[in-house]
Amino acid sequence: MAPRNEVLPGYDVIIVGAGPAGLSAALILGRCRRRVLVCDSGQYRNAAAQAMHGFLSRDGIAPSELRRIGREQLAPYGVELREAAVSGVRAGARRFEVSLEGGERLVCRKLLLATGLVDRLPELAGLREMYGKSVHHCPYCDGWEARDQPIGVYGPGSTGVQLALTMKTWSDDVILFTDGPAPLSEAEEARLARHGVAVRRERIARLEGEDGWLSRVVLADGSAVERRSLFVKARQEQGADLAAKLRCEVTEERGVETAERHEETTTSGVFVAGDASRDVLLAIMAAAEGADAAFGINCALQEEDLA
Ligand SMILES: Cc1cc2nc3c(=O)[nH]c(=O)nc-3n(C[C@H](O)[C@H](O)[C@H](O)COP(=O)(O)OP(=O)(O)OC[C@H]3O[C@@H](n4cnc5c(N)ncnc54)[C@H](O)[C@@H]3O)c2cc1C
Repeated sequence: MAPRNEVLPGYDVIIVGAGPAGLSAALILGRCRRRVLVCDSGQYRNAAAQAMHGFLSRDGIAPSELRRIGREQLAPYGVELREAAVSGVRAGARRFEVSLEGGERLVCRKLLLATGLVDRLPELAGLREMYGKSVHHCPYCDGWEARDQPIGVYGPGSTGVQLALTMKTWSDDVILFTDGPAPLSEAEEARLARHGVAVRRERIARLEGEDGWLSRVVLADGSAVERRSLFVKARQEQGADLAAKLRCEVTEERGVETAERHEETTTSGVFVAGDASRDVLLAIMAAAEGADAAFGINCALQEEDLA
């Protein structure tokens, strides 16, 4: 057993991911005089977005600008940043070993996973070019820009019902595209009809528009439905498999589970923040969870050092 107050080599904290969650945690931990390393593979979930909305004081700026400011503000606190993907993690007795792609191995006392989610978009011809401009998945992020316009909702089967009803908050003109047979219940059909949401069950051939701006949804029979934006039900997966490697509990629906202490996972010493723990998937929530995790990490380090 190592003597109390022994200074372990390596970092106090390694943060994996430099999105809003990781950067926010790094800021708080840097200000706590912790030795912090942030590793980032540069795969930002919102890379396709034109602007980031709903972040207090930063509404409408480019997502990259938020990250630039975030990184800049870490400089006075000595936080180290590495453009490197973390390929492996191993929990030891009182520390974690982190492997970077390329083979380098680093050691830390606490680990924060801020690795986000990856969106699996539907394979619709024309969609990729429009994603982030006129094809979106999050009404809270992009609903305002689509307000009062003809909105389409893409949800195969019955997956789009809730999203279609949600979009009525922003426009009276909402059509649900099921892209094939849709086993909607009587109650769902009645609810959609009551709120004026038409359902189109034909297969979709492609999305058409110019410079990323949707103008029509073309159906398999050649007919077209005029729309200015399309909100899609996208499937999301964990941005990294590190939580699973550390035997943290992860569920498809709720993401990486957190225990009682501030964003700590079910594996002691491993914390999670941001989209990876799947609460409300907004940048400001990710940043808030990052701050919460940083608080939890610093308290845990204090408990060890000042016992
Ligand atoms: C198209 C789009 C538009 C959006 N618009 C808005 C909006 O307008 N307003 C809003 O509030 N939210 C918006 N969001 C949601 C917002 O982007 C996320 O909620 C936010 O980015 C989550 O932050 P995060 O730090 O948890 O994850 P991310 O921002 O996804 O960052 C995760 C980071 O982890 C890194 N990473 C992953 N694995 C590894 C690894 N193994 N090693 C090293 N690094 C790793 C990635 O490279 C990435 O930098 C949008 C999302 C999308 C997809």
